[in-house]
Amino acid sequence: MLTIAAPLVEKEEIKAVNDVLSSGMLAQGPKVAELEEKWARYCGTKYALAVNSGTAAIHAALFAAGVNEGDEVITTPFSFIATINPILMLGAKPVLVDIDENSFNIDAGLIEKAITKKTKAIIPVHLYGQPADMTEINKLAKKYKLAVIEDACQAIGAEYKNKKAGNLGDLGCFSLYATKNIMCGEGGMVTTNSKSHADAIRRFRQHGMDAQYQYRHLGFNYRMSDLHAAIAIEQLKKVDKFNKKRQDNAKIFNKKLDRTDKITLPKVSAGRSHVFHQYTIRVDKSSKLDSGLLAKKLREKDIIAGIYYPKPLHYFDHIAKYGYKKGSFPVAEKVASEVLSLPVHPKITSKDADYISKSIKEILDGF
Ligand SMILES: *Cc1c(COP(=O)(O)O)cnc(C)c1O
Repeated sequence: MLTIAAPLVEKEEIKAVNDVLSSGMLAQGPKVAELEEKWARYCGTKYALAVNSGTAAIHAALFAAGVNEGDEVITTPFSFIATINPILMLGAKPVLVDIDENSFNIDAGLIEKAITKKTKAIIPVHLYGQPADMTEINKLAKKYKLAVIEDACQAIGAEYKNKKAGNLGDLGCFSLYATKNIMCGEGGMVTTNSKSHADAIRRFRQHGMDAQYQYRHLGFNYRMSDLHAAIAIEQLKKVDKFNKKRQDNAKIFNKKLDRTDKITLPKVSAGRSHVFHQYTIRVDKSSKLDSGLLAKKLREKDIIAGIYYPKPLHYFDHIAKYGYKKGSFPVAEKVASEVLSLPVHPKITSKDADYISKSIKEILDGF
C-alpha cells in the first residue's frame, strides 16, 4: 500500500528519545534550546521559538504581531483550518482573498483591495511547499504598515529568491506534526528576526510570564517537551535529504505524466523552490472522471491519494459568518473540486513513483 504520508523514524530518533528519557529532564529544557538554535540557523533567522503545534505557532505569531480584538487579518480560503482559527482565537476578523490557480497560493494582486484601516497582518500560506509571492506581499505590507506572518507549516526548506521560508516576512510558522516534511509527532516553531517578537512568543507560550509568577499578559501552555525536541533535532539534520527525495519523486511525475490528458500538473513559479509537501494535480471535470473517482480507482491499485482540501474554508459556518458564501472565491472553489495529491514522500521509491504514474495513465485511458 502506497500511503499519502508516512513519518520516517530511524534509529537516530529512537536513540535521541531514549537519551532524553534517561536524562530525567523531559519538559522544555536543553533539547528545546538546541533545536531553537539549529532551526534559526537553518532558516537564516535570528530567533526560532519552539511551541507544541503549528496552530500554537500561528496563534503566538499573531499575538506577537499585536493582533487584537476587532483587527483584520488577510489570508487565503484555500488552506488547512489552522491558518484561520488562531485569528478567531484573538477575536480578530479573517479577511479572505482568492488564490492563483497555478500556484494554489493567495493571489497577491487581489490583496490591496482587501486592506482597510483595521488590517493588522497578512498570512500568506506556502501551500503544498511552494512559497507565495513574497515580494509583492512585503511591498504591500510596507506601504500599509502590516505584519507578514508566513504559514510555512508545509514549506520547511523551501526558498524564495535564495532565502528560506520562515525568513521571508516578519514571523514564520512551522508545524512538526507527524505528516509534515520533518516531524516530531506534534510540534511547532516560530522564526523571526525581531527580539521583541521573540520575547513576546517566549512569554505567550508560558502563560504570559516574564518572571516567576509574574503574568504580563494572557498566555497559554504552548511549550514543547525535550522528548519532542530531541526527535525534531534529528529530523532537521535530514531535512534537505528528505526534501530532495520529494523533489526527485516530483520530477518522475513531471516527466511520466507530462502532456497526459485530463490532468494538470503542479507548476513552480519563477524564483522559488518547491519542497513538495504535496504533489498536487488537478483533474479536469469535463471528462466523466473527477478527483474523487480517480482517488477511488487508484485505491484499487493500492495507491492512496489525498484531497487537500475538499472544501474552501469560507464554506464553514464559523468563517462564513464573516460575510462569505458560495461564489465569494471562485478560483479557490473551482480548485478545491479538482485537486488530488499523490504520494510523494521519502518512503516512495522511484519505482513506486513510476508505478503511480503508470497507474494514473491506465485509469485516464479508460475515460
Ligand atoms: C499542519 C498545518 C498547520 C497546523 O499545524 P499543526 O501542527 O497541525 O497544528 C497550519 N497550517 C498549515 C498550512 C498546515 O499544513
